[in-house]
Formats: sequence, structure tokens, C-alpha cells
Amino acid sequence: MTENINIKIVDNVKDMQALSNRIKKEGRIISFVPTMGALHEGHLSLMRVAKEKGDFLVVSIFVNPTQFGPNEDFNKYTRDLKGDIEKVSEIGVDVVFFPDVNEIYPEGFETYVEVQELQKPLCGQFRPGHFKGVTTVVLKLFNIVKPDIAVFGEKDYQQLLIIKKMVRDLHLEIEIIGMPIIREEDGLALSSRNAYLSHEDRARALALSQSLREIEKRFKEGNKNTNDLVQYGIEILNKSSITDIDYLEIRNGHTLESKKEAQPGDLVAIAARIGNTRLIDNTKL
Ligand code: AMP
Repeated sequence: MTENINIKIVDNVKDMQALSNRIKKEGRIISFVPTMGALHEGHLSLMRVAKEKGDFLVVSIFVNPTQFGPNEDFNKYTRDLKGDIEKVSEIGVDVVFFPDVNEIYPEGFETYVEVQELQKPLCGQFRPGHFKGVTTVVLKLFNIVKPDIAVFGEKDYQQLLIIKKMVRDLHLEIEIIGMPIIREEDGLALSSRNAYLSHEDRARALALSQSLREIEKRFKEGNKNTNDLVQYGIEILNKSSITDIDYLEIRNGHTLESKKEAQPGDLVAIAARIGNTRLIDNTKL
């Protein structure tokens, strides 16, 4: 354990569990925000809510290898512990849990957890094994940090639904809170991956949120046909020469079932590559 700007950093499972056991014995509520670091205002917004809801706030920073595919950006993912600690210090985070990969996946590790149906569409289709890695690491982190409350962003909407389902299905006594997407002033959803974008690609990336706004507008005007709505969105993307689109879909906002006719509460979700950077965004109708 080390102290850093008054924030305790715990890097191993046993110490984190012992600390959480102690906090719980004192009757204090542990709130938790899991992250992969490279923190931005989106992450901080979750931490502020978690701080308010609990008595003891734990933030984890762990770039989880099992949720990255072989050709994805695990190695180049931004790691900046010092910058991250500076950012969380203004929130009043009590502990940063910062384990190393071998601590979470010791040799011989072979147990995984999967939410079978919800993980299939959208990102699950384009990132095989991604959600299995997410649910496995989140369950591990829950067993290490022992939170009463955990806060996640709607930015990763499918992930939020999957985690809520896992918590329900496995009878975990953890309240899951989902928080809205934090955006730049021009609409771009904050993401650690935005840092990869060149100046030109940053401008093109705006088309993601613009296509969602266009679909919302057409829906409000009375067009309910999901094929039409998606087509309007794709036109906006193509205008910015975004053609490498994994998906732009309208699905039920709870079950993720696909829809012919859109209704209020449906999810509009998009994943596309701008240059080499894969970005996601979504909105609810
Ligand atoms: P990550 O570090 O990308 O794994 O994200 C950690 C948490 O922050 C997840 O619950 C994300 O959904 C959430 N998050 C990421 N970006 C945003 C954003 N722009 N607004 C709100 N939450 C976000």
C-alpha cells in the first residue's frame, strides 16, 4: 500500500478484501466505480454520484486483458496512473484499487461468467468474448471490493444491462446505478479512446452523435420505421466518410430485441471505426 496525495492505492487482492471487510464491519456503505483508467469527466461524474451514495468510495483502475480481442488495443490502451490519481483526488476517492494482471488472473485461472443472451447482439457480435471478459472481471472486482453500490455509465449501455442482469441472476447484493453519457460541448461522447483521434478524425467523429440526433429528430417527427430511421443515421455518417460501421441499430432498451417499429424508450446504438479507432455511442428514444 502506498499513499499518494492522500489517496490510498491498494495493489493486491488480499489487502483490498481485508480493508473492505473492515469498512463493512464498521457498518459503512462501500460504493465502487470500476474503470480502465485514462480517466475523464465521464468517469468523474460516476465517482461524484458514488461518493454521494456511499460512505467509502473505491475506484478500480485495471485494463482487463480478457475483454480485449487479439487484434484490439490492449497494449496501446492509455495508462496514466499519475494523471488519474490527480483527477480522482478532487473527488474524495478513499481507495484506488490498482492491481496488476497477474494479481487478477494468476496462473491456472480458468473460471468465467457469461450472461448468455444479452451479450449476443451489438458489440457482442463484433467483439467475440468481450462481454465474457467484462462480466468475469466485474464479478471478480465485486468479490474483492465488496461494494454495496456500483456505478456504471450508459456510454457502455449494453455492458450496463449485462451487469444488471448478472447481479440479478447471481443474487449479488449490490445496487447497480447507471448514469447518463457525458459529452463534449459539440456532442462527442467522452471516451478514453478519443485520445487516439487525429485532428481531422476528431471532427469526423462528431457524425456519431449527429446521426443519433438525426434519428431522434425523425422519430419525433413521426417516423417509426426502424429501417428508415437507421438509414437517415447512416447518411449522416457517410457524409463524414464514416463507412466502417459495425452497427447502427434500434433495439428494445431493456431486452435488446431488434424492432421493426420504434417506440419511446428504445435504444439507438452505434459502433463505428474512424481511422483505426473504434468508437461507440447511443441514445434512448
Ligand atoms: P472504462 O474506463 O472505459 O471501462 O469506463 C469505466 C466506466 O465509465 C464505465 O461504466 C463507462 O460506461 C463509464 N464511462 C465511460 N465514458 C463515459 C461517458 N462519456 N459518460 C459517462 N460514463 C462514461
